[in-house]
Amino acid sequence: MTTMKAVVHTAYKTFPSLKDVPKPTPGPGEVLLKVAGAGACHSDVAIFDEFEEGLNPQMDPEFTLGHETSGWVEELGEGVKGIEHGAAYLIYGPVGCGVCRACTRGQDTYCENAAKMDYAGVGLGLDGGMAEYVVAPARNLVPLGEVDPIDAAPLADAGLTPYHAIKLALPHLNGGGKFALVIGLGGLGLVGVQILKALTGATIIATDMKEDAMAEAEKLGAITVPGGEGQVERILEITGGKGVDAAFDFVGVGATVKTAMDTAARQSRVTIVGIGNLSPYEWAFLGTPYEAELVSTYWGTVEELHEVVDMYAAGQISPQVTRYSLDDALEAYQLLVDGKLSGRAVIVPHGKK
Ligand code: NAD
Ligand code: ZN
Repeated sequence: MTTMKAVVHTAYKTFPSLKDVPKPTPGPGEVLLKVAGAGACHSDVAIFDEFEEGLNPQMDPEFTLGHETSGWVEELGEGVKGIEHGAAYLIYGPVGCGVCRACTRGQDTYCENAAKMDYAGVGLGLDGGMAEYVVAPARNLVPLGEVDPIDAAPLADAGLTPYHAIKLALPHLNGGGKFALVIGLGGLGLVGVQILKALTGATIIATDMKEDAMAEAEKLGAITVPGGEGQVERILEITGGKGVDAAFDFVGVGATVKTAMDTAARQSRVTIVGIGNLSPYEWAFLGTPYEAELVSTYWGTVEELHEVVDMYAAGQISPQVTRYSLDDALEAYQLLVDGKLSGRAVIVPHGKK
């Protein structure tokens, strides 16, 4: 048996391990990829640090982490057609039943049979991309063309998730004099600022606890407002008092949801992307802006991932990537846990180039 190195989720409330696992072989309809890059997403921290037995059985250990992966096609499983050997692809991570209404429109995230499945996707129950090789269903592959697949790896989640959230909010940002708020300027949030810039004419207000993250957002064209006392007032002042037309919360803890709702305009849309809040949110009729929508959202569709790749190829978005070897993957996760990473850490198993 050939083995390979992989970053494995071994138990809940336990830091992952780098260990030897069997090199996978592609089954019917599947493709084996040599991993180019695998992004370290904060959701992985939720899986190994915050989730516990019984909360979400699809994430039960053991499996290889890495749900934000790119790679080169190494081997085609039985019956696979239309995938080019040697070419670079992104993996669309969510894997649903493949035949329900949601899956057939390319939205495996909302698979109608999800409750009956014991995994949520590649790197989420199924073995993921934090390894030398990974297997994915052929229908989950999105061609990368000529772009560098290592720098493009974050598109699979840090690109797709804000893209989906922003696309659904576009009706609120359509027209002049609109304001968007981005909370949390890490892997997802910094790409979110770029997508807002490319798709809307809105004034973008951004906030984070970290100075360097805010400086980066300013370079991308956002106005930044630090957290703490006076933050809500300052944001309202920038909007001329009316509030923001769309807010995107890439943290999602009680305090950030409150900031978003306290600065929301009437008829606005507040999208919670960060999974920081697993306890109830308090809502009251008075004090909540009329017709302000409060929604959560999960990842995106495979068609949208094609659109994100198009934006990347056109130079409209470019994730901030720091490369780590597979041997240094645990160090990257530790920095993510400690809140010390900027942009996205991408694990590069076959040499950093
Ligand atoms: P990240 O660690 O790269 O970035 C998080 C950023 O938020 C950091 O810059 C941090 O300084 C900042 N931050 C933390 N607490 C803050 C606060 N109270 N106020 C302001 N800023 C604060 O994380 P990421 O990988 O970009 O993921 C962001 C969130 O989105 C995570 O909760 C992750 O689990 C979630 N996520 C959700 C989906 C989805 O489909 N809903 C998909 C991917 C990630
Ligand atoms: Zn993720």
